[in-house]
Amino acid sequence: MVACEEGPAALLAEVKPSVALEGAAASGADEVGEARIHAVTLSGLPWSQKLLAAVRAANTAAKGPLCTIATVEPSAQLIRIAGAGPAGLSCAIALARRGRRAIVSEARATVGARFTGDLQVLEDFSEEADVRELLDEIGIEGDFLGPGLTQAELFDAKLRRTRVSSTRPFAHFLKRGPEEGTLDSSLLRQARASGVEVRFGERREPEEVDVAATGPRVPDGLAREMTFRTESPDRVQVLFDSMRAPGGYGYFFAQGGYATLGCAVVRDLKRIDRCFEMCAKRFREIADYSVSEERTGYSYMNFAIPETERSGSTLLAGEAGGFQDYLFGLGIRYAMTTGLLAAISLVEGKSYDALWEERVGAKRRSSLGARLLYEGLGDAGLAAFARRGGRRDFRNFLKGWSRPSFAKEALAVAARALWRRPENCRHALPDHWCRGRESRDLPAQGPAAPPGGWA
Ligand SMILES: Cc1cc2nc3c(=O)[nH]c(=O)nc-3n(C[C@H](O)[C@H](O)[C@H](O)COP(=O)(O)OP(=O)(O)OC[C@H]3O[C@@H](n4cnc5c(N)ncnc54)[C@H](O)[C@@H]3O)c2cc1C
Repeated sequence: MVACEEGPAALLAEVKPSVALEGAAASGADEVGEARIHAVTLSGLPWSQKLLAAVRAANTAAKGPLCTIATVEPSAQLIRIAGAGPAGLSCAIALARRGRRAIVSEARATVGARFTGDLQVLEDFSEEADVRELLDEIGIEGDFLGPGLTQAELFDAKLRRTRVSSTRPFAHFLKRGPEEGTLDSSLLRQARASGVEVRFGERREPEEVDVAATGPRVPDGLAREMTFRTESPDRVQVLFDSMRAPGGYGYFFAQGGYATLGCAVVRDLKRIDRCFEMCAKRFREIADYSVSEERTGYSYMNFAIPETERSGSTLLAGEAGGFQDYLFGLGIRYAMTTGLLAAISLVEGKSYDALWEERVGAKRRSSLGARLLYEGLGDAGLAAFARRGGRRDFRNFLKGWSRPSFAKEALAVAARALWRRPENCRHALPDHWCRGRESRDLPAQGPAAPPGGWA
């Protein structure tokens, strides 16, 4: 590992080699072209090695030392991360547990700012290993995990009910948002306790950091949710109805007098408010529920498949890299896993692309193949999907849908051909595949105004 100790590039060297080169150029070196070429041709290497080569080349080009180079301990190397969501904070905690210094820059004033205290689930079916093993691997305590879910009710468009159950939990409840007790606030506390510095109100561009974990940028999927107090008994209900939740589903989670009702859509994004109202009405037809202290909000989901998860030398983790479960939009496990893999890549000098391809590459492609099937099924197919879920252990059923297979990989190829990347794509990702989506005139992410407007 290297760092510039003195000279014009010294103050900049901790940021990025490209910035150190700018510094060298600004300091009066006539010929830094050679140095730039070195930086470009070495783009596959860790940035510390690029810096070493760049500084050497800049010194040669300037025919005299612009700065000197000192060897520093790996543990002193500072790693910069943008985004304090599950991906960014998991990466920072994994780095700290492995003896590295990390700073997380968060654009908003709090963690979890785009969520409203809503109940979400950490899925525990897409891999054989229990999701708690992932938390152990990162070095995270699961104090944010609610009860494991082994039962749910699925409804089709005709409101026919299927009860599903499993022996092992297929998911765990957790809450999202800035408040105490959420996944986000727990990860923040654990990151700080392990020595990570988290800076709020600090927006960073990918080229300024080592890991960009800045979450979804444009709405490939859109959800509207209401979180509230209720007297409703506990329930986990999912509605598969292509008119009320086009391409997505409605959901009603209630636990201990606290509930989230949501509608996630992947088509007709502009109809989100109408779809949400229709889902809310449908759940009332199933069983009436009381509502108090409600908060509503909108949130995006990104689905994209880049060829590489590097933007220059910056690693992309979580939804910033399009890591999402294409089938149901369950992205927390992907975010935490890729945050961990980014940390391993930086600490052990392993290829990030090789690490994520091995761990989640096939799973992500298969979820795209499964989505093609899901959208092609229509209401009759979705009803059959729900009924089949009721005949088997539900965790095993979901695992089957997530398990990579040749057929799903082939379907993913078909999906990529059918759903072409739009010309006006706004993902800001390296070369990638994504699906054309309307993205204009949609609600902004975050809490919506309460009934009657803001006080
Ligand atoms: C309504 C809804 C319900 C969901 N329910 C579930 C569920 O039940 N289970 C599940 O697994 N998944 C669910 N998901 C998906 C899941 O929430 C996301 O996949 C997950 O939060 C992605 O984590 P992340 O760290 O990549 O991004 P985020 O959680 O979005 O975090 C990114 C952070 O980066 C910050 N940021 C953005 N730009 C910058 C910048 N330039 N500089 C610095 N900081 C920046 C943001 O403010 C944010 O705090 C749901 C999504 C939605 C929308």
